[in-house]
Formats: sequence, C-alpha cells, structure tokens
Amino acid sequence: MLSTPSSQPSSQPSSQPSSKPSSKKSELAKRTTNILRRLKREYPQAICELTHESAFQLLAATILSAQCTDVRVNMVTPGLFKSYPTPAKLAMADIADVEKLVRSTGFYQTKAKNLIGMASQVMTRFGGEVPRELEDLVTLPGVGRKTANVVRSVVFDLPGLPVDTHVGRLSRRLGLTVQDDPVKVERELNAMLPPPEWGQFSLRLILHGRRVCDARKPKCGECSLEDLCPSSLVPRKRIVTKKATGKTDNK
Ligand code: SF4
Repeated sequence: MLSTPSSQPSSQPSSQPSSKPSSKKSELAKRTTNILRRLKREYPQAICELTHESAFQLLAATILSAQCTDVRVNMVTPGLFKSYPTPAKLAMADIADVEKLVRSTGFYQTKAKNLIGMASQVMTRFGGEVPRELEDLVTLPGVGRKTANVVRSVVFDLPGLPVDTHVGRLSRRLGLTVQDDPVKVERELNAMLPPPEWGQFSLRLILHGRRVCDARKPKCGECSLEDLCPSSLVPRKRIVTKKATGKTDNK
C-alpha cells in the first residue's frame, strides 16, 4: 500500500493553487465536501488490501509494504505468519529465517530487522499488544506516521489518515494542498475532514489513484472528480459572448 513519491508528469497542467487565502477557504471546504461525497459514492467499500487477521499482522504487513506492492506482500505474509503467528514468536525469530521469508518484498534485511525489533518492543514495552496511540506506534522499528495511521484507522477504527504517494499526488492535483511533505499534507487534510472520515478518505484516494488518476497518465476524461479538479486535462469550454465577437463560440 505504500509507494515511492513521484513528481508531477510533464503532461500535468500547472493550475495548482499557489496559496489558500482566507477568502477561498469556504470554496475549498465546499469542494472538499463534494470530493468526499463523490469518492464515497464511487468507492463505497474501500478496504485495506493487505491481508491480515490482527493488529500485529497488519503492522507487519504494512512494514513489508514499503517499496513493494500489496499483491507481493500478500504472497509473503501467509508463510511469515505461519512460522511467526504472534509478536512473542517473531521476537524470538532467527533473523536469517525471517530474511528468507520476506526476501521477495525487497530491502529484506532491513525489513526483517524491523519486524523482529517491532515484535520485541511490542512484547517488552506494550505487554504483547500493538499500541493504539500514534505517539507509541511511531516509536516501533520500521513504523512511521503512514504505517501507524494505517493500523489506527483499519484495525482500531480510530482517526488516522495515511499519506502515501497516491494520497499526496491526488491531494495536490485536486488543489487540496500544495505541500510535498506527507506530514504537512496529512495535517492539512485532517483540518478539512471530519476525523471519522480520515482513514476511508485515504483508502478511497488510493483506489482512485490506482484506477483513474495515474501518476503519468491520469484518465481525466473518465474521472468522476473532473469538474472539481483544477488539474484536469480536459479542455474547458470557453464561452465568448456576442458582444465581444458578434457570435457565440462554444469551444
Ligand atoms: S481530473 Fe481526475 S484524473 Fe484528472 S488530474 Fe484531476 S483527479 Fe486526476
């Protein structure tokens, strides 16, 4: 579920807001509400695509998903959880064995070390239970705000808005933020959305990014948010009045 940041494609329009003056705040709030409503309609069942049966499993799967596809992670985790079904077991694991199990997800040495470190700290500092608070989660090895927010929103049903490359890209294209820093993007989105919507909003943007608003070739002509998007590549109709030209020109 996590992807590398990508820059705007050269085909991207440049019509992004350079600032958010207070006079435009109500317009932005209204547009955000409309975007939220349409995404809900288009993706009523937004679910996390990482297979898991517990907070521990989702935490481990999300650590593995860095620079890797959910499909690949879902191929690896059954074997990992068969050998190490609990934090207690994983904390005692032989690192060479964990490396072997997670090798195909990439960066396997770091990931194996983080997985064992995470499980060990869950055991020693949190009594074997994955913590719920963001401040606690981000102290675990391999766990940043994005991973912590995934666990909070998906497993614990607590407010949490994970910002991955899709969420960042779409938020900028939709004019909801001009920030590149995921933490700043998260803060700005959080300020505009009700806390119970944070997690699902992130999942829906990820789905929309995967299916429609591709990093390199956004399908603006098929996009349900097209009329709300300042970055749309669909040519706008231009109305030239009779007064100016003597005729009406709808291009
Ligand atoms: S119109 Fe839709 S597909 Fe095109 S840039 Fe905007 S959100 Fe992305």
